[in-house]
Amino acid sequence: MTHLPLEILPPAIGHRRCGNVDVDCVHRLDSGRPGPEVLAQALSHGDEICGAHVLRWLLEQALLPQRGRLTPVLANAAAFERFDAQAPHRSRFVDEDLNRVWSDAADFVLDIHSMHEDGQAL
Ligand SMILES: [Zn+2]
Repeated sequence: MTHLPLEILPPAIGHRRCGNVDVDCVHRLDSGRPGPEVLAQALSHGDEICGAHVLRWLLEQALLPQRGRLTPVLANAAAFERFDAQAPHRSRFVDEDLNRVWSDAADFVLDIHSMHEDGQAL
């Protein structure tokens, strides 16, 4: 695998680790009105840092949905914390690859992945 220099560095998410529910790194933005349950997940793979930038930005906006609930999740923060720009793949996961391991009752799921291999954008 060819190692390419990273153009985007990992964001600081330390202060985002404590969500507002009983699960670390899970935030729940509740409109208080009926509506869809939407889950937006980043860091399913701890080495795919673009989604962490997106969710960090989203949380900084302090937005609330007009209906339903939005649940931003920094899924594999333990793997992400091991991120090394010189060997990004080593922080892909710790014990288990969390790719498509969901047990949420969401109506819609946005699972944000990114790649750092040389190739065409998908
Ligand atoms: Zn991925």
